[in-house]
Amino acid sequence: MRRILALLVAAWLAGPAAAQPPKAPPPASWSTVAKPSAGLPRVIGKTAQGCIAGAVALPLSGPGYQVLRPQNRRYFGHPDTVRLVETMGRWAVLGGHGLLLVGDMAQPRGGPMPSSHASHQSGLDVDVWFRRTAAPLGAAELAQPIALDMLRPDGRAADPARFGAVEVDLLKLVATRPEVERILVNPALKRAACAMATGDRSWLRRLRPWWGHNMHFHVRLACPAGQTECEPGPAIPPGDGCGPDLDWWLSDEAVEALQRRLEAARQPAPPKTLPPACQEILRGR
Ligand SMILES: [Zn+2]
Repeated sequence: MRRILALLVAAWLAGPAAAQPPKAPPPASWSTVAKPSAGLPRVIGKTAQGCIAGAVALPLSGPGYQVLRPQNRRYFGHPDTVRLVETMGRWAVLGGHGLLLVGDMAQPRGGPMPSSHASHQSGLDVDVWFRRTAAPLGAAELAQPIALDMLRPDGRAADPARFGAVEVDLLKLVATRPEVERILVNPALKRAACAMATGDRSWLRRLRPWWGHNMHFHVRLACPAGQTECEPGPAIPPGDGCGPDLDWWLSDEAVEALQRRLEAARQPAPPKTLPPACQEILRGR
């Protein structure tokens, strides 16, 4: 009797649990969605407020490059972005420049990231480190890589032992590609590139000074042809940008502006609303 009672209690305990539907997975977020959405590439919105459908993955290693921090799964982008990285890799192979180290591109469907960037949302951005490596990095170092600062210790000028003709050659290769809109680099590195550039200087216009970017440069592609939902970045002023504008970036006033920016960044800001099409892309197949 006792045994039957025990079985009945066990069945009663197990019953309702067995009848419950399996626990629904948490709704996908931009940083947890497993794979790109199906279909052709669609770049939506701005690089700091957008997303991408039909993104492709950059292979984690290829001729002339390796992808850093693969655990973050930020190696997705528009096919043009992937091709550009592969072009840079060929430059490294042909020139005997070792391996390039590729930082963040975008998440599988783009969108905001929980850390590190405001941009990189629409599959048109890629960070490439200035540090190159002669031998491939192992898994542990790829997961937690060590960057190399291109500036002197005072931060006001490029370190000529690290930032030289090879680095300028790579920036020029990227800046002269028709699909590239701009490259963000530290103002001191732009100044060094301005001083070192020979012959055609028109490409220097696409080299835009920005805070940080002393260990990596950030390439942003222009909206690819036919991508009508893609919003381009602000227009670049005429000229090579090596004159007074660049001087401002290296002034005390710019240091104060940076401090104000950092203070503003500490204030909680409401999340930006993405274009409505992005919600469909996040939830879609
Ligand atoms: Zn970046």
